[in-house]
Amino acid sequence: MSIKTGLGQDSHAFDVTNSKLLILGGVEFDHPQGLRGNSDADVILHSLTNAISSITGKNILGAKADALCQQGITDSTEYLKLALNDLDDWHIEHIAISIECLIPKISPKIEALKVNIAKLMNTQANNIGITATTGEGLTAFGRGEGIQVLSIITVSKA
Ligand SMILES: [Zn+2]
Repeated sequence: MSIKTGLGQDSHAFDVTNSKLLILGGVEFDHPQGLRGNSDADVILHSLTNAISSITGKNILGAKADALCQQGITDSTEYLKLALNDLDDWHIEHIAISIECLIPKISPKIEALKVNIAKLMNTQANNIGITATTGEGLTAFGRGEGIQVLSIITVSKA
């Protein structure tokens, strides 16, 4: 059996100029501000998309996602789908997600995030681990200016 590990990262600042929806992991959060970005700025899905790109060697965010954005496709699940297509016969074994932010509170939504991300990525919720921290306010994320997400995806092939 072959195994590969992918590492992804992304960060977005809160958009203080409009009342965009805050969508994380495809789940809508009840929060007065969304994140700045051309797309829906779903920082969790972008991090996961980058983690898959680091496995496949085919980058989606940047070139391909920007082109979709210009066509009005701002739903980050579409970018994730492109990355998942590139996985071919690699099977997702585990997804680890680490979120750094002060706001919103992530812990009440962790189960909903696992269920939705499992559905989007064709895996089971028990293959997903999500942790969240404020990092003791040492960074802009921990001070409430934005959200950073790191993720690691493990895949296997028989
Ligand atoms: Zn992003």
